[in-house]
Amino acid sequence: MKYVSFLSDTGPGVGVVLGEHVFPVPHGYSVSADGAPLGLLELIQRGAPTSVPCATPPIALADVRLLAPIPRPARNVICVGQNYHQHSLEFDASGYNSTPSNGVPDRPVVFTKAPSSVIGPDDVIPLHDALTTELDYEAELGVIIGTGGRGIPAEEALSHVWGYTIINDVTARDVQRDHRQWFLGKSLDGSCPMGPFAVTADEVDLTDLLVETRVNGELRQSAKTGDLIFDVPTLIATISAGMTLQPGDVIATGTPAGVGIGFDPPRFLRAGDTVEVSITGLGTLTNTVGGPPGTDPGERA
Ligand code: MG
Repeated sequence: MKYVSFLSDTGPGVGVVLGEHVFPVPHGYSVSADGAPLGLLELIQRGAPTSVPCATPPIALADVRLLAPIPRPARNVICVGQNYHQHSLEFDASGYNSTPSNGVPDRPVVFTKAPSSVIGPDDVIPLHDALTTELDYEAELGVIIGTGGRGIPAEEALSHVWGYTIINDVTARDVQRDHRQWFLGKSLDGSCPMGPFAVTADEVDLTDLLVETRVNGELRQSAKTGDLIFDVPTLIATISAGMTLQPGDVIATGTPAGVGIGFDPPRFLRAGDTVEVSITGLGTLTNTVGGPPGTDPGERA
């Protein structure tokens, strides 16, 4: 099933997408006792429903504002660096990697993005031009954890996955390089576009997903998830070895070759650019890059 978190005329909600319509999940599923919307995270915590009652009339997709499937404040956004061979080579060669791996890492390179950096489809990616002149894009498959746990063996890992979404791991390259630790350059407000959908695991075949990025319509990244150096079960086993994964945690699995610093000269994002990240079966995550300094991360394109 394909879920969305959304805002409509009647407030926030969670729904199931069929065709061009959203079928809202009844409030008994999506609102806490005090009336606060809990959203998709609550559904994930309750388990992985294959069906939910949809008693209310559908809403046209065009009539809602889509939010990140797990909106801010999100759970952990755990990321993996240098997880496609060609990208690992381009990153080491770019001069922006303060901790080069000599080509291909022998263990997964794990870091995080601040959950406060999450924004939704069609939100504006702030340019932060007083801080960085080197904002870059990274298309990534996002794994949404369903059943949490610690010490999850690789052979059982996929049973802990609730579903999948798209992440754009927007990165300030100069900040990433100059501070020698990736967290800051990966966590600027608005640097984690997520969505548009959260698709349950039963509908996704991990072996052959096409991951693509277009900037202003020009194809920049294109690779299959079969090219991952460390596959999803290996990542879950590695991350959970000593750290309890929780329902709703998202693992961004790494980006393919073709990021801005992979070009000579580099091609960084500019005000007004449109970035589209597409993954087979997961839709297209579209965001524009903001113009004026101080652009609200929640501001619409
Ligand atoms: Mg990344």
